[in-house]
Amino acid sequence: MVTQAPTTTKYEAVIGLETHCQLSTATKIFCPCATDFGALPNHQVCPICMGMPGVLPVLNQKVLEYAVKTGHALNCQIAPYSKFDRKQYFYPDLPKNYQVSQFDLPIAEHGSIEIEILDEQGQPTRKKIGITRLHMEEDAGKLVHGGSERLAGSTHSLVDFNRTGVPLIEIVSEPDIRSGLEAAEYAQEIRRIVRYLGVSDGNMQEGSLRCDVNISVRPVDQAEFGTKVEIKNMNSFSAIQRAIDFEINRQITALHKGEPIYQETRLWEETAQRTISMRSKEGSSDYRYFPEPDLTPIEVSPEQLGQWQSELPELPAAKRHRYQEELGLSAYDTRVLTDDHAITQYFEATLKAGAPAKQAANWIMGDITGYLNTENRLISEIALQPAALSDLINLIETQTISGKIAKDLLPELLSQGGSPTALVEQKGLTQISDTATLETLIDEIIQAHPQELEQYRQGKTKLQGFFMGQVMQRTKGRADPKATNQMLAQKLKAGK
Ligand SMILES: [Zn+2]
Repeated sequence: MVTQAPTTTKYEAVIGLETHCQLSTATKIFCPCATDFGALPNHQVCPICMGMPGVLPVLNQKVLEYAVKTGHALNCQIAPYSKFDRKQYFYPDLPKNYQVSQFDLPIAEHGSIEIEILDEQGQPTRKKIGITRLHMEEDAGKLVHGGSERLAGSTHSLVDFNRTGVPLIEIVSEPDIRSGLEAAEYAQEIRRIVRYLGVSDGNMQEGSLRCDVNISVRPVDQAEFGTKVEIKNMNSFSAIQRAIDFEINRQITALHKGEPIYQETRLWEETAQRTISMRSKEGSSDYRYFPEPDLTPIEVSPEQLGQWQSELPELPAAKRHRYQEELGLSAYDTRVLTDDHAITQYFEATLKAGAPAKQAANWIMGDITGYLNTENRLISEIALQPAALSDLINLIETQTISGKIAKDLLPELLSQGGSPTALVEQKGLTQISDTATLETLIDEIIQAHPQELEQYRQGKTKLQGFFMGQVMQRTKGRADPKATNQMLAQKLKAGK
């Protein structure tokens, strides 16, 4: 029975995410088949992943290692005893008619991660999102629907079992998320974590990272949850955000009108920017889980757990804290520098070579990123090594060259590499800061331009820029700008 809610009622959304993440192991979870993306259909299969009778699956130890490491990174408790179960259902892409997954004893539980949201002024807000569980499972195959040239006109579906048995981890969050923005940030943080760990490429376009959203709304002062709707089919972070914001709005509008919310699965339609009903979900499906009899239970020794924990890199949240609190970088700079692990590594290598954090950040986020975007290249592909960037920054800091000269040298260094110090010497670009040299030069220039000098002395002081230009032209930009400006001002005013 639905009663119409007054339009003044304030609602909040309650959102949880289920994230499937494909692990980047060389072979499948229970057999030695390769996992290469884009291989010819049904070319990476064997009796085990095809579910032939009499075969025996064996757990790939790399899958266990990656799942445990991710569990640690999500601050979960790792189960001392865990097992696999069969989840029974029929679908044409599932040759065994069951999926090997984990049911009541997942490998990791009770964790949390911290997300950081920036407001329009760039001020960060941090929030903890609980992690209910993480479990290991195998992926299903892929159905390809439609026609082909050979079978023109026919409607049919083809099945590709290459993906059958590819290892997945499923990460389930607590319903702690309250907006589309928080959900998108949560999903991005999961991707950062698996990329930092090197356990997945987190590529959403290729389906390595897939998110399903559970969402309901309730009046802000109500403890119990509203009716839950599941949304599927979002293949970017912004789609997650937009789908959720659409759905929050749809549900609140329905409640205001006194319309019921049905428990159902809805699909995000990217072209129409809306969710549509896919199927109703009255009651949960009975998958008749039972323990997988062909696989032994999983017990990881404390020594092994300790070993894997010690191999974890510094994780994104810890990096954000360190960059902001120790390096003094802004939340925005921190975000840009920690988002892409290759950029993070480049930045940190530059600091290690001696560069100050703020200057290194400015070069990487400014000129270098600009170059990467124009040339459509990755930071791992540029010839300028982090130590050389540190050298370049040092040349400016010690006033050996001006910032302008450094910018002029950058394209050559980015495309050809080499030592900035050597390049500066070879091209004779060392900054002229020597007072005597600058004084002689300035005197010559002033003498050569009596008219401009006269105008300057009659009050057109902006002409100092003209004289500065002349000095830079004569020195090919090598004159120390600060010293030159001071000396020019003094000399120009002198005869007044
Ligand atoms: Zn196989």
